[in-house]
Amino acid sequence: LKINKSDIVAVAVKPAQYPPDDMPEIAFAGRSNVGKSSLLNLLTGRRKLARVSGSPGKTRTINFYLVNDDFRIVDLPGYGYAKVSKSTTAGWGDMMELYFDNRQGLRKVIQLVDARHEPTKLDVQMYDYLRHYGLDGIVVATKADKISKRELQKNISVIRKTLGLSGDDKVIPISALKRTGQEELMEEIEKILEG
Ligand code: GDP
Repeated sequence: LKINKSDIVAVAVKPAQYPPDDMPEIAFAGRSNVGKSSLLNLLTGRRKLARVSGSPGKTRTINFYLVNDDFRIVDLPGYGYAKVSKSTTAGWGDMMELYFDNRQGLRKVIQLVDARHEPTKLDVQMYDYLRHYGLDGIVVATKADKISKRELQKNISVIRKTLGLSGDDKVIPISALKRTGQEELMEEIEKILEG
């Protein structure tokens, strides 16, 4: 699968602002600063599809990108930014639930975690939430360039254990900086869209 074309088609805080529920969607979730914008830019080959955050945690919208005129990539708001107030956090949960509950086209949510660290409590909660909706199964370990191959292998097994992944679930290490790993992810996305 090669992305030839991608354009933002909606920035939403509520369902009325979503695009029509008429095509498959692949969403991306992760804590603020995990490297989600950088990954989306890598996948789409654009420098500014998603804004790489100068101020993490500020994005409180669900962003929909139309890809190749036949599916959408959905950028979910990052979670876990320390300076977000309690009320903002509640809003985040409502936004997720409204989207997950009512979206026929949603095929999978790709969970991002930092390759360097054990998944956080919130990462585990997010993944459990995806499991609850049957949207789990693919994890991307970001910023893989920041550690050695050996450390990466070790951390991937920690990630698998901490998130409670099963044999079929995938952890795909990616570096947006070095531009490595995206082919494997795109293959997985292709499988999801074909299935
Ligand atoms: P977001 O908040 O999840 O969208 O994260 P960003 O894409 O804005 O990235 C957060 C920070 O991590 C930025 O300073 C990026 O330059 C950096 N970053 C993102 N991906 C990578 C990566 O693969 N390798 C390295 N070394 N840094 C990265």
